[in-house]
Amino acid sequence: MPVIIFTEHSEDIIKKSSLEAISYGVALAAKLNTEAISLVVGQTKMNLALLGEYGVKKVIHADDLNINVSDNQCMATIITHAAEKFNADTIIFSNTISAKGIAPRLSVKMRAGMVSGAVSLPDLTNGFVVKKNVFSGKAFADINILSNKKIITLNSNAFEISKPGGEATVEKFEIGNITSSIKVTAVHKIEGEIPLAEADKVVSAGRGMKGPENWGMIEELAKLLGAATACSRPVSDSDWRPHHEHVGQTGLSIAPNLYIAVGISGAIQHLAGVNRSKTIVVINKDPEAPFFKSADYGIVGDAFDVVPKIIAAVKAL
Ligand SMILES: Cc1cc2nc3c(=O)[nH]c(=O)nc-3n(C[C@H](O)[C@H](O)[C@H](O)COP(=O)(O)OP(=O)(O)OC[C@H]3O[C@@H](n4cnc5c(N)ncnc54)[C@H](O)[C@@H]3O)c2cc1C
Repeated sequence: MPVIIFTEHSEDIIKKSSLEAISYGVALAAKLNTEAISLVVGQTKMNLALLGEYGVKKVIHADDLNINVSDNQCMATIITHAAEKFNADTIIFSNTISAKGIAPRLSVKMRAGMVSGAVSLPDLTNGFVVKKNVFSGKAFADINILSNKKIITLNSNAFEISKPGGEATVEKFEIGNITSSIKVTAVHKIEGEIPLAEADKVVSAGRGMKGPENWGMIEELAKLLGAATACSRPVSDSDWRPHHEHVGQTGLSIAPNLYIAVGISGAIQHLAGVNRSKTIVVINKDPEAPFFKSADYGIVGDAFDVVPKIIAAVKAL
């Protein structure tokens, strides 16, 4: 029974987190001695056969004009149909905002056991045991999925992308009329910004910046590095920055390759949303700031001295 990997794309680019999910699905399919299929939904100009480079032999593409990719109910229905048609019993997602909306709905439709936020391949020696982060990344839990049908959402940065090479066959997947109890009437994209959830690098700042008028240097550093901007909760609560930049337990959970935290104390609720970042750089004038305990690199200093120097150094490079 094949493994289907729900493969997300945006502006004709496959999301990096989906390439991780494909690599994970391909490795899982090899373990289960079965085939990995990538499911792509929505219109795109990409040559989907190239997904074969990541190890899938087959791509199924549902691109009917009436599909609304922002409608989670509609997406769950499409994936259910695909699972039925291709006799798949395991569905892999990357743990994105879309997956958080679609996967639980799919779990109900397919009557599938689901683990969200997996961090490694299932252990098949005694069942189907999936390891996941719990308690905001402070512990791991091993969860045995007992149902025949299984859904896993994979944390970003938890599994390396592999590129064994090859070309996939691309099959159109006609889904006909899909009914949904909601209708998405408009989607307004924020233009010109790197989406925080997908960003490879993030420059984030907290109350140490003193006020919204001082964010110019944070934005400048982010722009130079090709990074997204983020902030701590009190900053967005005070309307210094928009709410979609708030990271942490009650905000967005992110896992970029580089997270630069400027004037953020490193409270546990903040760390909960950023401690999966690969490299953490902390800039804080207080050497006792808790964030230094989680940092790969720390600079003890005043942000108003340090950040302009970093900007100058990056410009010089
Ligand atoms: C239920 C609950 C949920 C929460 N969820 C979240 C969440 O999702 N995200 C979140 O961020 N918080 C969350 N919080 C709040 C959290 O507990 C902290 O209060 C918050 O993270 C602190 O923000 P901060 O570090 O920006 O500010 P502060 O705690 O005020 O820290 C400011 C830091 O800046 C440093 N600093 C000051 N001036 C300078 C300077 N000139 N140069 C360099 N450093 C300087 C200080 O030394 C200090 O370490 C939550 C709290 C609760 C109770």
